Amino acid sequence: MFKKILVANRGEIALRIQRACRELGVQAVMVYSEADRDAKYVKLAEEAVCIGPASSALSYLNMPAIISAAEVTDAEAIHPGYGFLSENADFAERVERSGFQFIGPTPESIRIMGDKVSAKQAMIKAGVPCVPGSEGELPDDPVQIKRIAKMIGYPVIIKAAGGGGGRGMRVVHTEAALINAVAMTKNEAGAAFGNPAVYMEKYLQNPRHVEIQILADKFKNAVYLGERDCSMQRRHQKVIEEAPAPGIPRKLIERVGERCVAACKKIGYRGAGTFEFLYEDGEFYFIEMNTRVQVEHPVTEMTTGVDIVKTQIMVAAGEKLPFTQRQIQIRGHAIECRLNAEDAYKCIPSPGRITMWHPPGGPGVRVDSHVYTNYFVPPNYDSMIGKIIVYGDTREQALARMRTALGETVVEGINTNIALHRELMVDAKFMEGGTNIHYLEGWLANHNR
Ligand code: ADP
Repeated sequence: MFKKILVANRGEIALRIQRACRELGVQAVMVYSEADRDAKYVKLAEEAVCIGPASSALSYLNMPAIISAAEVTDAEAIHPGYGFLSENADFAERVERSGFQFIGPTPESIRIMGDKVSAKQAMIKAGVPCVPGSEGELPDDPVQIKRIAKMIGYPVIIKAAGGGGGRGMRVVHTEAALINAVAMTKNEAGAAFGNPAVYMEKYLQNPRHVEIQILADKFKNAVYLGERDCSMQRRHQKVIEEAPAPGIPRKLIERVGERCVAACKKIGYRGAGTFEFLYEDGEFYFIEMNTRVQVEHPVTEMTTGVDIVKTQIMVAAGEKLPFTQRQIQIRGHAIECRLNAEDAYKCIPSPGRITMWHPPGGPGVRVDSHVYTNYFVPPNYDSMIGKIIVYGDTREQALARMRTALGETVVEGINTNIALHRELMVDAKFMEGGTNIHYLEGWLANHNR
C-alpha cells in the first residue's frame, strides 16, 4: 500500500478521499487554491499545499503545480477525484511520467473512453448495446449527413465527440434544421473541447438514465456493482440518484452488467468506472463511459457495502480486487440528494457565507459535505455543497428517511435547493419510481410558470 497520496481535488470529494486514506492508514496530502484555504479537509490535513489562486485554470487544472506539490511532499500517487483533471489522459500520462501512480485507469483507456466516438466503437466491439447512430464522426458532406439522419430516423441528436458535463449536444427534429445544427455544434465543440468532431445518434424521446458501476484491478479481474438511476436531471445535470433503478428486471441488469465487465477485460480497464446508458422500452443503450469515481458513488456503496474509493486506491497500489462477482450482493435501497448553493427553483447560483449548518443524522443517513457553520462558499466552482444519502430496506423506507433527513437539515446565509428536494420526495410520480430524464425539467417549468 502507498504511504502517501496527493488528493488533486476540492470540495466534498477531497474530504471523501481523505477519509478513505485515513481508513487505509495512508497519509493524504491535500491541495487547495487561495479560495479554499479554509476548507474543512485542509484544516484536518497533516499536510496541505496551496497550488494557486482561485481560478481553477491556475490551480485545480494546473498540472505542473499539482505535480510539484506531489514532488515536494514525497507522495507516491495522485487521486484526481471527479471533474477537473480526472478524465484528462495527458494529465494521467504526465503523472506517471513524473514517477507517480495515477489512481485511475491507464492514459490509453482514458483516451479511448474520453472520445465518445471511439468509446462507442469499443463498446460495439465488446458487445455492449449502443444508441443507434452514425458509425463514427460525421463527414463534412451535407448530402451524406442528411443520408445518415434519414437512416437513423428523426429526431436525432448531434453530439460532440469530446463533450462532457451535459454540454455540446443539439436535438434536431427536421431535415431543414440539420445542416445548420451540425455546423453550430461543431463550432461550439471546437471552442469548448478543442475538438470539433461530432457524431449523430437517434434521439430517444423518453428514456431513463441508468448506469452501471464497475471496479477492475490490474489482473483483469472486474466486477459490476449493480446500477444507479440518475434520471432526475436538470440541463443534463444529475440532481437525485438512486440504487437500484426502480422496476427494471434483475436479469436484464445482470446481462448488461456482464457485458460491461467483459468490455473492461477486453480493453484492460483498471480502477473504478461507470457505463452510462439510456433505458427505454426495456432496452439499454450505451451513451458514454466515465473513467473516474462519480458524485453518486455513495448510493452504490450503501447498497453493496463496497467502499469504492478505498478499492480504487487498493487496485492502484497493485492489489487484487478483494471480492468476486458472486460476493457482490445488492441489499435495500439508497437515494442521494445533491445539495447545491443555488435558488431552489430558478437554480441561480448563490455563493456566500453559510451562517448556520445543521446536517441531518440518524439510522441510514450519510452526509458527504465539506462545509460547516461560517464556511464561505466560493463563487469560483461548482455550486454543490454536499450530498445527503439515505439507505432503507425498501425504497419506501429510504424515501421516508430522506424526508426526515431533509426536514432536519438547516442551511442559512445562502440559498440552497433543499426546498426542491423536500417537494420531490413527496411528489406522486417520483414516489412511484421510474420517471424519465425530462421529468424534473417539466416539473420545474410547471412550478416556475
Ligand atoms: P455528458 O458527457 O455531457 O454528460 P452524455 O452523453 O452522458 O453527455 O449525455 C448526457 C445526457 O444527455 C443524458 O443523460 C441524456 O439526458 C441526454 N442524452 C444524451 N444522448 C441522448 C440521446 N441519444 N437521446 C436522448 N437523450 C440523450
